[in-house]
Amino acid sequence: MKRAASTSDDHDSKRVKDDAQAAPPPAAQRPVVVWIRSDLRISDNSALTRASRIAVADGNPLVVMFVVSPNEWLEHDMAAIKCRFILHCVSALRDALALLNVSFVTLTAASRRDVPQVVCDAVVRLNANRILWNIEYEIHETQRDKKVTKLLADRQIPSTACHDQCILMPGKARTKEGKVYTVFTPFKKTWITILQKDPSLYKLQPMSAPLPVASPALLETITAISTGLPTTVPQPFEAPSQELIDFADKMYPAGEANARIRLESFVKARIKGYKNDRDSPGKDLTSRLSAYLALGVISPRECLVEALNANNQKFDSGSDGAVTWISELCWRDFYKNILVEYPRVCKNQPFKLETDNVTWTTDPESPLFKAWCTGHTGYPIVDAGMRQLLAEGWMHNRVRMIVASFLTKDLGIDWRLGEKHFMRHLIDGDLASNNGGWQWAASTGTDSQPYFRIFNPTLQSEKFDPAGSYIRKFVPELKGVLGKEIHDPKGKLGLPRIAKLGYVAPIVDHKIASQAFLEAFKRGIGK
Ligand SMILES: Cc1cc2nc3c(=O)[nH]c(=O)nc-3n(C[C@H](O)[C@H](O)[C@H](O)COP(=O)(O)OP(=O)(O)OC[C@H]3O[C@@H](n4cnc5c(N)ncnc54)[C@H](O)[C@@H]3O)c2cc1C
Repeated sequence: MKRAASTSDDHDSKRVKDDAQAAPPPAAQRPVVVWIRSDLRISDNSALTRASRIAVADGNPLVVMFVVSPNEWLEHDMAAIKCRFILHCVSALRDALALLNVSFVTLTAASRRDVPQVVCDAVVRLNANRILWNIEYEIHETQRDKKVTKLLADRQIPSTACHDQCILMPGKARTKEGKVYTVFTPFKKTWITILQKDPSLYKLQPMSAPLPVASPALLETITAISTGLPTTVPQPFEAPSQELIDFADKMYPAGEANARIRLESFVKARIKGYKNDRDSPGKDLTSRLSAYLALGVISPRECLVEALNANNQKFDSGSDGAVTWISELCWRDFYKNILVEYPRVCKNQPFKLETDNVTWTTDPESPLFKAWCTGHTGYPIVDAGMRQLLAEGWMHNRVRMIVASFLTKDLGIDWRLGEKHFMRHLIDGDLASNNGGWQWAASTGTDSQPYFRIFNPTLQSEKFDPAGSYIRKFVPELKGVLGKEIHDPKGKLGLPRIAKLGYVAPIVDHKIASQAFLEAFKRGIGK
């Protein structure tokens, strides 16, 4: 059977090409379908923009589709609180799309392997003339999309995959010799040069309107195939605690309108001071946009545009705060590039293959790992971070670095256990950034900490939480410890006092433990 063409947006000139000009003549109610995944927004959504242009030009309605796939999500270690946030953002998106004449189909898949057939069956039932989606770069997702493309091609239905997740499409920033950058600073330099040269790469793309209205027959089919959106976290997820739900509902109101409010207020009030404030977990002055960015509730290009607007369109001069924040957006692109170019990082392998022989503790039942997970290590800054993760589904970046260093270099525990624990609890869990952060801390990754640089958790605490306000917030046992003692309760107060406070003694001695790590790491890499 002849295959229908499948295309992939090459991002060469414009991110969204003008398909309308090349579109075939109008056909009766053959909808254009957009399969929404981690791009839960209307504005500046490459696939949606492109599909809307085709739909308007053809006089066909636009249908947006979402697949609820709890077993697949759990297989990928998604946190229950992130699952809940997804469902709320999908619901907000469905309501917003309805105002634009866009119908919404919710499907359900029993497992990851079922997704391609579920999607294909729905597209066929809808009598769609084509389907578009934004690319998810992880391995399973890439394989899934290949299967969907093939199933649909066998039925003469073309599919189009668009680049959307990054500000600059992965693979575009390369060395003069065409090689992949594995070090951040030169990557950033080229990233900035390319974007400065061609601002159309980050120009925000609006949807075309007004869109044709779906016929009663199409609406009937949509109702018949829609399985409905769960209103609570579905099985087999365990429901998050009520405290976590209450916190997340307040901190992360669903939908892109709320994400935009967060972005605008950050840029207005805090971006200027970001360079100085971003390393102070007690102040909590970063943007808190990561949960929205991870689900695509806001576009990274919109974040960049807002930051540039606040900085006279400058990427690398002007306000220190804006420049530093733009750099963080670039880190996000950098780690996605690494994932695309080195897919082994999706398969539990270290980026630096020479570190593969380092021996780590891999037992998830080990008491040391459990103490770390629950925030009972006896190192207050580590315990505060781990408890923030459980209480909020989020942890401040500086503290993520400290707890990751502690797990790997003080406890000698495999970074993959830490990576998994983070994914299972983070509302902003993102494979590329999480893996990048963990491998950076464990010295197995690209552009990572040198293995001999080991954070001293007490010094980190004194430097980045000098007043101890972050620790006091999350470690109530130490609330009454008012001075510098809070950073080193065992050393400064003694064991009997901390026992009386109900706090734990340190589970390892930092000096001895980090020395043991150094020796093990050197043995592993043959030094
Ligand atoms: C061990 C470890 C694990 C991490 N896991 C994740 C994760 O699963 N998901 C995630 O989004 N980030 C992760 N990060 C990166 C970073 O900690 C978070 O992006 C940041 O704390 C989110 O808070 P914010 O939105 O207030 O960030 P801001 O400081 O306001 O930064 C703005 C945006 O830039 C991006 N960004 C910032 N720092 C980084 C970074 N180091 N790497 C990649 N992107 C960055 C994020 O999208 C963030 O929302 C991890 C870092 C470490 C060290």
